[in-house]
Amino acid sequence: MSSSTIIPIVPVAAASDGLGCHAGQDKLLEAARAAGKSEVLAQYAADYPKGPHDQPQSMCPAFGSLRVGLRMRRTATILSGSACCVYGLTFTSHFYGARRSVGYVPFNSESLVTGKLFEDIRDAVHAQADPAKLDTIVIINLCVPTASGVPLKLLPPAINGVRIIGIDVPGFGVPTHAEAKDVLAGAMLRYARQEVMAGPVPAPRQARQDKPTITLLGEMFPADPMIIAQMIAPMGLGVGTVVPTREWRELYAALDGSVVAAIHPFYTASVREFQAAGRPIVGSAPVGIDGTHEWLGAIGQAAGVPQALIDLARNQALTSLRAVLASQPIKGRITLSGYEGSELLVARWLVECGADLRYVGSACPATPWNLADAQWLQAKGVHVQFRASLEQDLAAVHEFKPQLAIGTTPVVQAAKEARIPSLYFTNLISARPLMGAAAAGSLVQVINAAMGNQARFDAMKDFFGGVGQADEAGLWDGVPQQFPEFRKDMKRQREKQAKKRKAEEMGS
Ligand code: SF4
Repeated sequence: MSSSTIIPIVPVAAASDGLGCHAGQDKLLEAARAAGKSEVLAQYAADYPKGPHDQPQSMCPAFGSLRVGLRMRRTATILSGSACCVYGLTFTSHFYGARRSVGYVPFNSESLVTGKLFEDIRDAVHAQADPAKLDTIVIINLCVPTASGVPLKLLPPAINGVRIIGIDVPGFGVPTHAEAKDVLAGAMLRYARQEVMAGPVPAPRQARQDKPTITLLGEMFPADPMIIAQMIAPMGLGVGTVVPTREWRELYAALDGSVVAAIHPFYTASVREFQAAGRPIVGSAPVGIDGTHEWLGAIGQAAGVPQALIDLARNQALTSLRAVLASQPIKGRITLSGYEGSELLVARWLVECGADLRYVGSACPATPWNLADAQWLQAKGVHVQFRASLEQDLAAVHEFKPQLAIGTTPVVQAAKEARIPSLYFTNLISARPLMGAAAAGSLVQVINAAMGNQARFDAMKDFFGGVGQADEAGLWDGVPQQFPEFRKDMKRQREKQAKKRKAEEMGS
């Protein structure tokens, strides 16, 4: 494309200050639609149906896509968005050990309005497209460039043999960072599928297995695929690739799997690509006795395994599990919430380990792939809340007064203030093995250790009392003094000013 080509960019969002995840969603959506992004937004609305919180209540959703790109070999990831968003995303990715540079194409109102931003992105992509170093370049449009219609689809599909993948990941279209992983994984699978259909593709680095493989969908603890491999070995099946993949060629292997296990249930766009490739999808995961029994059966049936071999696999997997779970080693009331999408799987373990689980909230939506988990939990009397808002998670903690609250940072903070032991789901629960007897054993250990901390919370609360709360928070040289007269005076002044403003508004 020549640099004189007119690019359909609508500069509405850039002209206003303060637009983003904290405000102006309707305006951004309207602008994005007017700027030619209706199709992609309609697809997102269908793939990632929203709930009570349409705005991110956790980190910026684009982090999910960024993380998927940064974890792939020979892949460069470039952000196009406001500097503050890029700062936050870069910070978070390095906090989580990216060890890779994040590319950035900056813009200002002028470059956005004139379409120069798109040209800058195109130049950046051309400058980076070195096939000796890269297989793929990923460009991610954040909120403002998406709302302004920066047309990444006009980028060439490949430059010098380096694949170019442009995606829009606005906070006003993709509700969680979990689903943003799917936006990029799905886009890559679509690209890889088209390559497969167009002709021979390079073989994956690891030799193709001589038995049918199961593709696993969802980021998981490194030991989990190995444990699943042991579980399905009696059925003559092997574990293939885990999606999101770590390398481009693994995408071909993923598409080559006989069955896809949607261990994480929110990969809607990826599932669409696997279904287009004719692969059956199995939801839920081998967690707990009931879950493992059902999942092994579903996988075996989808792969056409004889019933006798399914029974063999079940017997082998369930024998060791029964020993761990028989003692029902968790005793106590728990609430659980998170935004990783694996909350219902952890919840199933907790219930089978004996916990009195009252509530599980997930920021992710209900999908066909977590339906069985939700129904199983509901049958056990657990309240399951999809698209849970922070307010709902907090209300559950207040209502059920658990002996342990597992949740997101603000939930953990609120629970600790209420002297309730708590665990951060993302770092302490979801970053652990989740499959098999060993996973149950380690989960029990961390849960029981946390619940055993009640006495320490009580001692701390008794010692500190209300010190450091509300307007006494912060660092003080001495004991904070209260000045009730001053406070009253300030209140009077504020009321007077409010009345004056109102009178002026009515008069104008
Ligand atoms: S890109 Fe992320 S941080 Fe920036 S405004 Fe959008 S949702 Fe917020």
